[in-house]
Amino acid sequence: VDADSVRRATLDLADDELDELLASAARLAAREIRATRDGPVFSAPPALHAVAATVGANELPQEGEPLEDVLAACATLLDAGRRTAPGFFGYVLSPPAPVGVAADLLASAADQNVTAWRSAPAATEVEHQVVRWLGQFVGFASDATGLLVGGGSAANLAALLVAVGNRAPTAHRAELVVYASSEAHFSVAKAAGVLGVQFRSVPATDEYQLDVHELAASIRADRAAGHTPLCVVGTAGSTATGAVDALEAIATLADIEGLWFHVDGAYGAPAASHPAHRSLFAGLDRAASLSIDAHKWLYAPVDCGALLFADPDASARAFATAAGDYVRVLGHDAGETFAFWDHGLELSRRFRALKVWMSFRHYGARRISEAIADDIDIARYMAALVDEDDAFELLAPPGLSVCCFRHVPAGVGADMLDAHNQRLLGAIQRDGRVYFSNATVGADFGLRACITNFRTTRSDARQALDVVRELASWDET
Ligand SMILES: *Cc1c(COP(=O)(O)O)cnc(C)c1O
Repeated sequence: VDADSVRRATLDLADDELDELLASAARLAAREIRATRDGPVFSAPPALHAVAATVGANELPQEGEPLEDVLAACATLLDAGRRTAPGFFGYVLSPPAPVGVAADLLASAADQNVTAWRSAPAATEVEHQVVRWLGQFVGFASDATGLLVGGGSAANLAALLVAVGNRAPTAHRAELVVYASSEAHFSVAKAAGVLGVQFRSVPATDEYQLDVHELAASIRADRAAGHTPLCVVGTAGSTATGAVDALEAIATLADIEGLWFHVDGAYGAPAASHPAHRSLFAGLDRAASLSIDAHKWLYAPVDCGALLFADPDASARAFATAAGDYVRVLGHDAGETFAFWDHGLELSRRFRALKVWMSFRHYGARRISEAIADDIDIARYMAALVDEDDAFELLAPPGLSVCCFRHVPAGVGADMLDAHNQRLLGAIQRDGRVYFSNATVGADFGLRACITNFRTTRSDARQALDVVRELASWDET
């Protein structure tokens, strides 16, 4: 062998080792998918010291160990994690559709850095296509432009930057005002803070929707005080109760007032794909920008958020580096000169689009939409079970796939109910068979179930409530 064709150090594997590694990883991935399907949420009740012991407090390893040992350690690690099993009702988390898991592995293998067409031509085209598909899926636009980002928080931040770039590029940031309802996700206020613009939390109605009259009054008051209203964020599926704002009315007011209209559909927008739920989202097609999290209700593995625009030039006005240049780029020879860095915050970007693309191609939009509608049906079923049990109380009517309730046992005074439900939630989370997160609805603390799991059934919902009853009675003694 020619000495110059050999390196002292390479990280490559021999062909047979490579095949063995990938076969082992595939077996482990399949085991993980089955464990997520079958539950429980935690193999053992999670405790800090036990998890830390599993990870181990080793020194930086100077020398390597055999792959089979590393894979065995990996299997133990995965077992110490939380699984989005059918008994997991917390937050807004979906298990990944198996096709998405395979897609993420392939995206890593191909490792396209999706900065621009020149760097990653096929991945760039796939991302354009996925963005268009998402726009069609939810009825936003048939030819949406935009990009994929890490999630809803990143999408909301970029959306506000684009609002500034399009409506008030030269204004003093501190004079600009962004509006969203008190039920909006905290990432909106956070984004406003990062940008140095003002944030107004507009009161919500009894239906947890942004109160459009309050919004109009707030805009008037701000103008009178010399501030510049910039943008209103409508929430299409609030995280706490699943409420969808009155998007049509907000769009009309935004038009009259000349405000950028962004819709935060990170959680809820995919439900607009289903004929039975579409009407809730009327006005979505009038938004200038829209956030959708594919890693929530499109069942993609984290991370994958999308930010869509109605105007193909909107994002470049905020992000294009060479001022004026983007016009030429977006003109006649747009395709090959296209660069995502002119449309968003990141330069290096993972090939996130592949998992959404493979999922739409394999399952088809109709089946994904049916899975979403099933989730909503199960949330309503759970709410009905809660409603017919005197020991439970619904905190809000079910919105989309969210059901918020609390335990109200006879003999526990109204002033003790928050403490009782906090204790109960702690007991449920320590027990590990099922998982709820918390919600404060109005002033009341309760348990929140969100169903964004294509495997969850009515029977899972029933059994989860049985576990709550069991742990609640234990808690009372
Ligand atoms: C989850 C959520 C977000 C934040 O999304 P991430 O992907 O977690 O960053 C924003 N808005 C709404 C309505 C959400 O439900």
